[in-house]
Amino acid sequence: MSASDAGDYDVVILGGGSAGYACALRSAQLGLRVALVEQARLGGTCLHQGCIPTKALLHAAEVADAARHGAAIGVRATVESIDMATVGAYKDAVVRRLHKGLQGLVSSAGIDYVEGAGALDGPRTVAVGARRLTGSHLVLATGSRPKSLPGLEVGGRIVTSDEALRLDEVPDRVVVLGGGVIGVEFASVWRSFGAEVTVVEALPRLVPTEDEAVSKQLERAFRKRKITVRTSTRFTGATQSGGSVTVSLEGAEPVEADLLLVAVGRGPTTAGLGYEEAGVTLDRGYVRTDARLRTGVEGVYAVGDIVPGLQLAHRGFAHGIFVAEDIAGLSPAVVDDDSIPRVTYCDPEIASVGLTETQARERFGDAVRTYEYNLGGNGRSQIIGTQGFVKLVRRENGPVVGISMIGARVGEQVGEAQLIVGWEAHPEDVAGLLHAHPTQNEALGEAHLALAGKPLHAHA
Ligand SMILES: Cc1cc2nc3c(=O)[nH]c(=O)nc-3n(C[C@H](O)[C@H](O)[C@H](O)COP(=O)(O)OP(=O)(O)OC[C@H]3O[C@@H](n4cnc5c(N)ncnc54)[C@H](O)[C@@H]3O)c2cc1C
Repeated sequence: MSASDAGDYDVVILGGGSAGYACALRSAQLGLRVALVEQARLGGTCLHQGCIPTKALLHAAEVADAARHGAAIGVRATVESIDMATVGAYKDAVVRRLHKGLQGLVSSAGIDYVEGAGALDGPRTVAVGARRLTGSHLVLATGSRPKSLPGLEVGGRIVTSDEALRLDEVPDRVVVLGGGVIGVEFASVWRSFGAEVTVVEALPRLVPTEDEAVSKQLERAFRKRKITVRTSTRFTGATQSGGSVTVSLEGAEPVEADLLLVAVGRGPTTAGLGYEEAGVTLDRGYVRTDARLRTGVEGVYAVGDIVPGLQLAHRGFAHGIFVAEDIAGLSPAVVDDDSIPRVTYCDPEIASVGLTETQARERFGDAVRTYEYNLGGNGRSQIIGTQGFVKLVRRENGPVVGISMIGARVGEQVGEAQLIVGWEAHPEDVAGLLHAHPTQNEALGEAHLALAGKPLHAHA
């Protein structure tokens, strides 16, 4: 009799997004019998409505900008139009290939993949239609969905990122409500595609969780790109009529647009799934766990976006792998939010890991040193025509505790930054390592050389 006939698994996972499928794959590698329940498409938000499709749009945006600005370096080109049907087909083809690959991985791992909407039916059982999947461990991985504001109803010309990814034309005028990661990425795409874009953010700066210096640089770059940035501005309402939407703002003239993107964050998908009935504690909809991702109900874990903290796919992967290894008795190290790398893929890109300067000062007082290496001194950045910096934050005579970067393509540098912060390296350790010339990666090396007291292409 197969495991599914017996209804008997080592692990039943509810939700097949980044966190859920990573947990399923690692559990299967460790010899556990696994059921993975997914109501929509394997791969979840990241693959179908998040990371991958947005980055495909951002790549098309980069190509448009390269063509538009080519004449300045002697490559004459004109952007005739943005053909959204072809952009969409390219994006969908990327998603389709990755989806197929992922389906192959799950099926060859021997995971019992169950299609359908599941809900807890007691602390050890997930019901999917008439089927009941019982496991010695349950992993809750139901992810997140776009939020709106009270009184702001999504529909028509008021969209979230889900609808924005399916647009078949470039709007002439867009208001983006929310200057966080999703908001600035869409603002960047639409501007590159030729739209007039206004970003409205209630807080005093864009990307408010990043280092303040990064927010300032992004705002400067956006203004240069003729994106209107309205920070410290409260949204008060939106009305649709005919072909437009009018967005009202506190203490300012209303803004009329063809589209309003609501990008005010994502909330957990946990309601009506039997979590609380099974004894799981929710806090404003999020699942409360300990550092080992245990919910407090014996054998029940939660992973990914439903656990408060950074909503990132690689955090979900790390959670999923951690839980699989914990169940298998390998005693893995907990996933530390402080060393999770973060990349925002707008133009210019932002990459960071660890603490911002403000966070470091809150934690360590005055015993903090910072250094900002301007990309003006970096050959490759000059060649590709980008501006920005690498900022290091270290404890006085201690390790580097935070790295923030802004500039075209800096996301590709976040791997080394993560190793430096994760390994608690001192600037002197990194200063001894070679960085190839001419790469943007050198900027990271140069910043550490300077902080170690031996700057090369920089002033101390
Ligand atoms: C526009 C956008 C861009 C993003 N860009 C990035 C990026 O560049 N990098 C990055 O790291 N992160 C990015 N993210 C965030 C990333 O997508 C999420 O952090 C990640 O998908 C979370 O994974 P998860 O498994 O926790 O949840 P999800 O991916 O949301 O997966 C949850 C799954 O559970 C399923 N499910 C829910 N309820 C049930 C049920 N009752 N029964 C069965 N199945 C159910 C859902 O269908 C879904 O497939 C982006 C998100 C968005 C929206």
